[in-house]
Amino acid sequence: MQDAITSKSDPVLLLRHDIDFSLEYAVQMAELENELGISSTYFVIPENEFYDPFSDIGKEQIQHMQNLGHEIGLHYDTSKYNPEEYEKDFTKDMQMLSDLIGEQVSSAAQHDPTNSLHLNIENLITNEAYSEKIRSQFAYVSDSSMQWREKTPLDLIEEGKSFQFLSHPIWWFANGETQADKISAIANISPEKCTKAIDNLNRALEKRAELDNKFKKEHG
Ligand SMILES: [Zn+2]
Repeated sequence: MQDAITSKSDPVLLLRHDIDFSLEYAVQMAELENELGISSTYFVIPENEFYDPFSDIGKEQIQHMQNLGHEIGLHYDTSKYNPEEYEKDFTKDMQMLSDLIGEQVSSAAQHDPTNSLHLNIENLITNEAYSEKIRSQFAYVSDSSMQWREKTPLDLIEEGKSFQFLSHPIWWFANGETQADKISAIANISPEKCTKAIDNLNRALEKRAELDNKFKKEHG
């Protein structure tokens, strides 16, 4: 993200991966990209119920991604923040992740931005994925819910546009055909967490048009 924003090339691909469920699939993506000579940004949620970036294995996986030349950014979840003191909560997340990666985090991306509270943190971080600055510089495409919206990344490549491509490694590397298959394939996931995650994903997909409209209104 940091490199793409300051790049003099045109067009530029800002390739971003949000790690919502599993570091393992992210590592697989990071290795594949490295073989292809690509660097991208992996967004990590410091405190979440699916993986622990501070465990020994989590630390190793994140360090491995950094060693492969990728940037690590903060994936922040405003549904976990106190709206009255969100700046403190965000700063704490950023500090925890900066300590973990051994350098100051300079990029952040909101988790589930169409379905959770929009908080203005742009004065707390250099780059925010949904900021006016980035949205004006890059078109946007994501594989959220395993369903493209109007355009695919290939459409945007053909159009010669600079764009931000958000992909979730799990949709590309986990076994199975559907979101439910892939969530179920996560190692050691409990049946309760699995059901809850699948329900949330399905609900977001059902309400997608409504949520997208709300997002557009809030972000101008
Ligand atoms: Zn996310």
